[in-house]
Amino acid sequence: MDQIHELKALLLSPKSCVVLSHRNPDGDALGSSLALSLFLQSINHNVRVIYPSEYPVNFEWMPQTEEILIYDINQKDCELAIKNAELIFCLDFNSLERIDRMAAFVTESNAPKIMMDHHIDPEPFADLMFSIETASSTSEIVYDVIAELGYKSKISPLIMDCIYTGIMTDTGSFHHATSPKLFKILSELKMEGLNDTRIQELVNNSQPEKYLRLLGHCLHNRMELYPEHHFGLIYLTKEDYRNFDIRRGDTEGIINYLMMLKSVKIGALVMNQPSIVKLSLRSKGNISVQQICRQHFNGGGHKNASGGSSKLSLEETINKLKDALTQAELKLTH
Ligand code: 5GP
Ligand code: MN
Repeated sequence: MDQIHELKALLLSPKSCVVLSHRNPDGDALGSSLALSLFLQSINHNVRVIYPSEYPVNFEWMPQTEEILIYDINQKDCELAIKNAELIFCLDFNSLERIDRMAAFVTESNAPKIMMDHHIDPEPFADLMFSIETASSTSEIVYDVIAELGYKSKISPLIMDCIYTGIMTDTGSFHHATSPKLFKILSELKMEGLNDTRIQELVNNSQPEKYLRLLGHCLHNRMELYPEHHFGLIYLTKEDYRNFDIRRGDTEGIINYLMMLKSVKIGALVMNQPSIVKLSLRSKGNISVQQICRQHFNGGGHKNASGGSSKLSLEETINKLKDALTQAELKLTH
């Protein structure tokens, strides 16, 4: 973290800050941005957390969610907050396209921009870049930044809850992207009194009935397997969105069931959302899905977990995906 001293200098006097994260914010987007915001407040900065679109209801319990500004709902206040910000923190995204129309205000602003992120291929739009691909989550990076700044003592129980939520969700409850260092951090948090089981219950075991009804539907009626290509697919139609009243966050985790199969090395969840077809891709081992998302679906992410979108129809998108995977067949055989 060679830029930590520059960040420390920027934080010496109280400032107006915005902390931005990506559209369709997930557990790590919320965890990292709320943790950083609470920390900055604790050292006398004024902070607004802003997302382009709403967050899933199962994160409503997190601290200060009622203060979050959502661009889709309140454009004027978001614009004003970004324009007036003296520091702009960009968390859990590395390309401006991921914050939609807020990108223009970020680009126009002369305030220093600080990126904290763990995705592949960062766009160089920030002045300070804490871009660490090997980190489990942006929340882990926020922990490291606070520690490197010499402020470990400022990590309150609420900040711990946020950091743990981001790490837990982005590692699929400690299934991937773990490291000795990560477990050391978790051990430290636990020693300081972290109630991890409570957070597992709040995030993972608080789904409404429709979540399991939808999962059953996906597995029974919407799953296609291509064992000769080590490929599995689940798709959701517009009718499914209506029939199951699918909302933000309701499809989270479904793709993991595909990956439980031995025959599946690449899994895809293709969702015909009201305005766009959204894709989630997962892979095992050395196979990368990042390039497929980047090259063909205007997206990206990590080697084993990436996402993207398509303006084609559901059927055309699925065909395009199958073609892209066939082209990349070589990488599929291991
Ligand atoms: P998920 O499939 O869970 O939505 O996302 C998996 C990973 O891919 C996450 O790290 C997420 O940030 C990234 N990702 C998902 N959708 C997009 C997208 O549209 N563009 C980019 N660049 N990354 C995405
Ligand atoms: Mn993340």
